[in-house]
This record gives sequence, structure tokens and C-alpha cells, in this order.
Amino acid sequence: MKIGIDLGGTNVDIGAVDDSYRILHSLQFRTADCRTPEELQTIVLDGARKLIAEAGLDGEQIDFIGMGCPGEIDTEKGIALAADNLPIDRIPFAKLLSDAFGAPAKLDNDANCAAWGEHMAGVSKGYRNVVTVTLGTGIGGGIIVDGKLLHGKENHAGEIGHMVIDIHGKRCGCGRIGCWETVASTRALTREVEHQAQYAPNSRLGKLIAANGGRANGKTLFIAMSEEDNMARSIFNDWIRSLEVGMWNIINIFRPDMIVISGGISKEGETLLQPLRAAVGKCSTMIRAGRLGGQAGLIGAAALDELSI
Ligand SMILES: [Zn+2]
Repeated sequence: MKIGIDLGGTNVDIGAVDDSYRILHSLQFRTADCRTPEELQTIVLDGARKLIAEAGLDGEQIDFIGMGCPGEIDTEKGIALAADNLPIDRIPFAKLLSDAFGAPAKLDNDANCAAWGEHMAGVSKGYRNVVTVTLGTGIGGGIIVDGKLLHGKENHAGEIGHMVIDIHGKRCGCGRIGCWETVASTRALTREVEHQAQYAPNSRLGKLIAANGGRANGKTLFIAMSEEDNMARSIFNDWIRSLEVGMWNIINIFRPDMIVISGGISKEGETLLQPLRAAVGKCSTMIRAGRLGGQAGLIGAAALDELSI
């Protein structure tokens, strides 16, 4: 039995995972109110203890503990170095978990874990060259080349959201201009929807947003499109064009067997995937939505023992 831990800025998910990568039991604990590294450590360790007790496991049944963590990671030493939305300051999670539960433990970046989960047990299982694109507030990436996760120097590889696609574009949170995520993330899409709807308050899109207190979410545009709203269709087409530019860059650099689209918006399925497939045309790279949804990170963390670095 393996334990997988998926740490995020709002919650941490902890699950018991069997050798076929099925989650047998899982628990979620809130991390958003954490103020110190000690508090965060306690939530993770006590949470894992509670899970193990509830799942009825004894120490000897635990073969491995894997953890995915946002921000900067030292994968060799298993230390979480720093993160934007969590009080992390050099927390040696791998050692803490290994000492507490008497099993080997590994730590990796959360986006890498999600990519690894899909590779080991999800949509990209069996393919050796895969790039996972996670669309959300930003755009995250996990790159698998020849069956191995690409970490790069100091684990900084895979920042695909920060490839520049428009040198005259908008300023990105990273400081540069025109990064992919400034135009192609889910947040960029909802911002554009809110912006354009101001000028068309009587359109279907305008009314949907007004009914939602002036805000759009990941679904607003798709609802308006399903009701034949022309403005929604036009915003969507522009957004697909921005996504396509980055996808072609990924294809030209890595020529993967598959690009996996993950993040909440991937639930839109063929509405999203079909135009992307059309955009990459005759290229043999497949475009698929992730199959494990929000569990990819937890399953990938539990599968880190299969990773040969
Ligand atoms: Zn950037």
C-alpha cells in the first residue's frame, strides 16, 4: 500500500493507494488558514496518521509515501523550499514522513505529480513522450520525455505557462511581457469574458454575468455558447487561437505522443478538445483530456516510487 499526499494552497488531500493505483480511502484537510511551517507540517503528519488509522492500516503495510507540493522543491533531498500561497520555508517533508511512518518517502512538484499520475494510471498510460498542460489561474506543465519526468536544473523545467507568445502583450505575474498564461489560462479567459460583456449587457453572456454578480467563471462562456451567443463564440475562438500558438510551440520542441489537457476546464470535453485538434491539424500528436481529474496529483505522488530520476 502507498500513501499519496497532494498539498495545495487551499487543501491537502491524503489517500491510501493500492498497487493498481486505485484510491481506497482519502481525506481532505484545510491548509488555507495555515500561518507557519510548523502548523502546515502538523496538518500533513496528523492528517496522514488519521488516514492510516481510518483505513485500518498498520505500519508494515505501508511501502511508500509520496507527496506533491507547490513551489520550489529540492527533489533529491525531499525538501519543500518555498511557495507563494503556503508558509513553506525549507520543510524536509520526505524525512519527516519517512521518520513518522517507517517507509521511504519522496517529494516532487505538484504539476509533475499530476502529469506522472496520468502517465502511470490515466489517459497517457503507455506513452513515453507526454506533455500535460494544466489550465487554471495560470498554466502549469509536466513534461515526460522517454518515460521520465523532466526536472531540469533545480527542478525548474516545465514552466510552459511562461513561454512568451506575444512580445507586445500583457505583463505577466513573473515580470515578463506576453507569457502564454496571460492570454490562454482559464483566468485570462474569464477576465476577457467579463471585459467584453460590459459592452453588451443585453447579450446572453452579459445577462449570465449580471446574474452572477458581475463575475464570470470557467463555465459562463460555455453556457452562453451552448445558447448560440455570438460574442461568446468569438471570445472562445480567440482564446483557442492563443492556446493553439502555445500548443504548437510544445509540439515543435518536444513532438510528444500526447498533450494532456487538465484543470477544471478540461471537463468541457469535446467542446474544448475538438477545436484544438483541428488547430494542430495533421500533426500526429494526440490531444486528450486528463482522466483522473482532481485525483491525478494524489495518485502521481503515490506513484513517485516508480520514478527513476
Ligand atoms: Zn510569465
